[in-house]
Amino acid sequence: MSDIRVRFAPSPTGKVHIGNIRAAIYNWLYARHTGGKFLLRVEDTDLERSTPEAIAVLFDCMKWLGLDWDEEVFYQTKNAKRHLEAVDRLLASGHAYKVEKTSRDGKIGVVTMFKMPREGVIEFDDIVKGHMAKKAEDIQDFAIVRSDGSPIFHIANVVDDIDQRVTHVIRGDDHVENTFKHICIFRALGASVPKYGHLSMIVNQQGKPYSKRDGAAFVGEYREQGYLPEALFNYLLLLGWNPGDDREVLTREEMIRLFELEKVHVTAAMFDPKKLAWMNGEYIKKIPHDEFVREVKERASSSVEQVPAHDDAWWSYLADQLQVRTKFLNDIPGMVRCFVSDEFPFDGKAVEKRLKKPGVKGLLLDLAERFSKVADWSAPALEAVVKELSQGNGMGPWVHPIRVAVSGRGEGIGLFEMLQLLGRDATLARLRKAAETLAVD
Ligand code: GLU
Repeated sequence: MSDIRVRFAPSPTGKVHIGNIRAAIYNWLYARHTGGKFLLRVEDTDLERSTPEAIAVLFDCMKWLGLDWDEEVFYQTKNAKRHLEAVDRLLASGHAYKVEKTSRDGKIGVVTMFKMPREGVIEFDDIVKGHMAKKAEDIQDFAIVRSDGSPIFHIANVVDDIDQRVTHVIRGDDHVENTFKHICIFRALGASVPKYGHLSMIVNQQGKPYSKRDGAAFVGEYREQGYLPEALFNYLLLLGWNPGDDREVLTREEMIRLFELEKVHVTAAMFDPKKLAWMNGEYIKKIPHDEFVREVKERASSSVEQVPAHDDAWWSYLADQLQVRTKFLNDIPGMVRCFVSDEFPFDGKAVEKRLKKPGVKGLLLDLAERFSKVADWSAPALEAVVKELSQGNGMGPWVHPIRVAVSGRGEGIGLFEMLQLLGRDATLARLRKAAETLAVD
């Protein structure tokens, strides 16, 4: 146990950006590593965007990633009275003042401004960025209450951090400029200033802030694309931190044990979708066998109306073959389709490349003939047939056309394992049908 208290304070919009959730991950790990508390504060003051649906999306996304929080959820709007009380104190102590402002539509209203100190330097030691300093005179007074009487982000954010007894504010470095202002508010309210850690931006391959133009930028999109939460969590953690050696795939326990906020990188982290895809494949390999068999069965039945009956050994073997090659669970229906139905699509490019070649028709018919004589229908026995034909030169000229003929695709599990799973009748029928209808003489 420690008295460290950190918080994730998103403004719900219905979509959770990967940069934001990385901040949540770092806060969560810091709390779990130190034995402190990880609090969730919903900064829901933008009433149009912070709908109940948007808040539900946020909770759902945190649960999906296993980001459990301590204590009750804190809603910023519910603390509005406290924000305004703090403003009254600032007015009374001369740290704030009211001015008349003419809004764009010409209406005159009164806003409350925070009065910045006129001299001195505002400084703090950022846990990630190091020493930060700015002259007070370079920051202008800023509004803390709108003319309609509603508190503005700066005052709400600081008062909530005081009320939640937050000790460390870990957030994106787009807030660095705000931090200089916030420190002045804490001091003016006589509160102790928390420690700060500002996380660098996630950038695209060109070094620009990663946005939806660069690909999926929101957690929900990754979920829909079949990413596993553990893989996304692990990948986002590595965007700006590593355990100090070359380990990349870490268990949650290892992450908690090894994570150190002080070691978070200062430089911007480049988002690499290929690496994330690789990471997902690594996590798919870790799914327990029985669970993966279930996944395969479920996804097989989503791809055809009636899945033919097979015994457990057959499913287990298919699942083993698929598991080492699957990068996305969403790819499974396409990969299993040819195993559960004779109606499967042919990939035009693969057909063009592998079947529309002179001699392929004869080759497939010859193979069908040879395979029909194999007594023991097994991957090794079938492989022996092709090995003999290839006479020690690569088996490619046979393997590729067979694969396209029986599965419609250019890639997939090992060919002979595939034929074993398909069985004699389907294999022979498909070879002959492809020879007659697709291949070239
Ligand atoms: N609602 C703010 C944001 O999402 C909170 C920033 C903070 O963590 O203080 O950017």
